[in-house]
Amino acid sequence: MRLFDTHAHLDFPHFRADRDEVLRSLREERVAILNVGTDLRSSEASLDLARQHAFVFATCGVHPHGAGEFTTEVETQLDTLLRNGAVAVGECGLDFYRDLSPRDLQVAAFRAQLRLARRRDLPVILHERAAWETFLSVLREERPPRGVVHAFSGNAARARAIVALGLHLGIGGPLTYPKNDALRQAVRAVPLDRILVETDSPYLPPEPYRGKRNDPGKVRLVVARLAALRGMPVAEAADATWASACQLFAVSPRF
Ligand SMILES: [Zn+2]
Repeated sequence: MRLFDTHAHLDFPHFRADRDEVLRSLREERVAILNVGTDLRSSEASLDLARQHAFVFATCGVHPHGAGEFTTEVETQLDTLLRNGAVAVGECGLDFYRDLSPRDLQVAAFRAQLRLARRRDLPVILHERAAWETFLSVLREERPPRGVVHAFSGNAARARAIVALGLHLGIGGPLTYPKNDALRQAVRAVPLDRILVETDSPYLPPEPYRGKRNDPGKVRLVVARLAALRGMPVAEAADATWASACQLFAVSPRF
């Protein structure tokens, strides 16, 4: 069985002590990873990881938390990184929950990255928190050709709105949280080929690992829950989400 974790941050300091070990076990377990950049530095680190491992792929982007520093200089550097082997732009988007950057600057940085994605013909990794209405209207205006709403946490209506835009849903550990019935309904409300699985490692560990560091191997628990909800064998859900990830990011992982 092969699994594809479409959102991880293995370059983060949480993995400083045992990164090689984690990567070695992922190769053995046949878990491919999209390592997602959140600023210029982590975008470069993601590209480095991808150069070293044929089952790791990199994205380059600036998270809404850092949107306040998204100057034209940063945009130019990001574009250079994108031409050095990135398979997607992001993560980018809007976070009006933590509001770590002014909202107008978040919208500007988001639009700029959606346009970069269009120019480079790359999919986008999207982050949205407590900003749904603005997020949706920016997407409707900028129309990214393809991409994934990572850590999707909405209900069935929101899931359908994402699919109607031609985008995928990134489903992670929260699918296993007891209170998340709305999310479980959402993953039953959309076609299976619109669903990708992810961990957001080191964050958002699935049950029963909440409170601990997450790692991409735990994507298995997300796939198992997805399969149960869709009434299908785990291997079938693994194959389907693997194929969707390979297609969306145009990659062929090797272990
Ligand atoms: Zn992330």
